[in-house]
Amino acid sequence: MEVHLLDRGQIHADMNFALDAEVAAVHSNQSPDLQYGEYAVWNLLVDHPEGTVLWDTGVHPEAADGYWPRPLFEAFAHHDPDEHDLATALDEVGYAVADVDLVVQSHLHLDHAGGLHNFAGTDVPVYVHRRELEHAYLSAKSPAGDDSYLASDFDRDINWQVVEGERQLLPGFELLHVPGHTPGLLGAHIQREGENEDLLVAGDVAFLAENYEEKREMGASLVYDSRAQAESLRKLRDRERRTGATVLYGHDVDQFERLQGSL
Ligand SMILES: [Zn+2]
Repeated sequence: MEVHLLDRGQIHADMNFALDAEVAAVHSNQSPDLQYGEYAVWNLLVDHPEGTVLWDTGVHPEAADGYWPRPLFEAFAHHDPDEHDLATALDEVGYAVADVDLVVQSHLHLDHAGGLHNFAGTDVPVYVHRRELEHAYLSAKSPAGDDSYLASDFDRDINWQVVEGERQLLPGFELLHVPGHTPGLLGAHIQREGENEDLLVAGDVAFLAENYEEKREMGASLVYDSRAQAESLRKLRDRERRTGATVLYGHDVDQFERLQGSL
């Protein structure tokens, strides 16, 4: 089973989003400089003996050209999505969109679901958790929910496969429900034989290594349900302890650069 990290470009944003109170005013420094930094956007291509799996579909190629609403782009500036569209990113690791047999959406936020248009009108199955699909529609079509869902990403002719709980996607490829960041967030445990370690796809349970390894909380705006978030972190840590798996974080540039080409 080969696993490739796909480079979908970078988001530039305040580091306080991922690291709660990374920069905070204190009595002796009441106007500290904020830290503006880089967040990686990646997808996974898993070449499994029973099918080629795409994990997430990334950012829409026109996100910087008005496809993303201006306030969202101002907060999360994905400046190069057109250079890192899905077809280009797949081509860099030797695949094409037509090679993808199934898609898993960890969740449907705009930095993860913007490439779904590639699969609209096809019979490629797209797996998503029931609670995610419900929450995405609620968010995009009503004043409730959260702003990071764009109906134009997912309100399409998609062959949805609704995941109700945890399940085996393919042999050795288990989907984990890890809510917190969103109600229907999916992670994965990919078991690999031989010298390669297991992979534990934490994704946006932990935007950065610090969230997981140093137990630094993410900013409140990134956590929909903090109790569920704590439980999901416990679940992943427990599984990491039992398997020695490599844990993949959601948007960590350093980890992305370290693992790209060597997963
Ligand atoms: Zn994300």
